[in-house]
Amino acid sequence: MYYLKRTFARINLNNLIYNARSYQSALPNGTQLMCVVKANAYGHGVKAVTKCLQNDLGVKWFGVSNIDEAVELRENGISGEILILGCTPPSQADRLIKYNIIQACLDLDYAEALDKAASGKVRVHIKLDTGMSRIGILCDDTSSAVCEAKKIYELDNLSVEGVFTHLCAADSEKADNISFTDLQIKKIKSVCAALKAQGCDPGVCHWLNSAGGIYTKSDGSALARLGIILYGLYPNHSIAVPVKMKPVMELISTVSMVKTVKKGSDIGYGRTFTANGDMRIATVAAGYADGFPRLLSNKGEVLINGRRCRIVGNVCMDQFMADVTGLDVKPGDSVTLIGQSGSAEITADDIADLCHTIGYEITCGITKRVPRVILKDGKEIGVE
Ligand SMILES: *Cc1c(COP(=O)(O)O)cnc(C)c1O
Repeated sequence: MYYLKRTFARINLNNLIYNARSYQSALPNGTQLMCVVKANAYGHGVKAVTKCLQNDLGVKWFGVSNIDEAVELRENGISGEILILGCTPPSQADRLIKYNIIQACLDLDYAEALDKAASGKVRVHIKLDTGMSRIGILCDDTSSAVCEAKKIYELDNLSVEGVFTHLCAADSEKADNISFTDLQIKKIKSVCAALKAQGCDPGVCHWLNSAGGIYTKSDGSALARLGIILYGLYPNHSIAVPVKMKPVMELISTVSMVKTVKKGSDIGYGRTFTANGDMRIATVAAGYADGFPRLLSNKGEVLINGRRCRIVGNVCMDQFMADVTGLDVKPGDSVTLIGQSGSAEITADDIADLCHTIGYEITCGITKRVPRVILKDGKEIGVE
């Protein structure tokens, strides 16, 4: 299969399957997986990822961020349930119906607009805001939340099939955050119980995300909306995860040129690095336009032939330089930006730490021009 072996991501489907199984085994019985594949499956290539989850694991639920992502799944043969976790403009109501997609219902105003715009039944899960202050019906007061939710059940063109909320601090060990998470769960449970008591079937009630599913001992969530752990990364890099996981993405580039520079030579834009002796410098064919963060300038490392090499100078748009002094490195050698080489490893979470962000942003940030090479059982089975 042709792809330019300049900079590319390798997506290991066996690791994806491993992570999903590993996570599922840590969940209480009765909690099913919803695989969250928004943002091109966190940058991993949504077509191959969803096909694998559906065909090899029998995953029945998928979560996306918007209707275009949802339609893309349908057009690629995903037949399970698809829930849009964010807002869809009410003008798109009939498209939701046409593609049989479930929409998060933000609040009563949104429900009424959707109801008015639709020419048939739109399937929804009511979103509750139990403390994140993002989308959803505010649940500071259970009875007013129930009152608002009940009015949604009365709308002719909406079919309420579920109720859900999002935990915003489940990836923390702080006592204050743990009790906050408990309170969020308590709130959704009491809203669902009250709806049921008042004759409104809450249907599929769910509140777990990756962190919630492993850190809270919470029974009763019909679904765990599994995102980051599916891809083998940490919800919070500083807190161990009690399930085994393997990173799904590797990011590989190549050495384009190697040269010796004299002591005192400057390297890269802005001359931010000066050689304090004669050095061997390798130029690598990746840059911030590939999603390799410029914040790694003079800070990050890459792996070449199993050895750690520091990045010297500023990362450019399409290239950067690495110190290979004393190493046997030549043009065409493979460079691991994310992944393992020999016994050394750099993860997206390691890069995120250096950039003061989270692994999510690193993999989502790998840009379109980077081919996703799909690997299964050690074989390349496709390129996205
Ligand atoms: C993105 C998202 C998830 C997945 O979160 P992870 O931390 O990646 O597991 C779950 N639920 C909602 C509503 C989301 O927006």
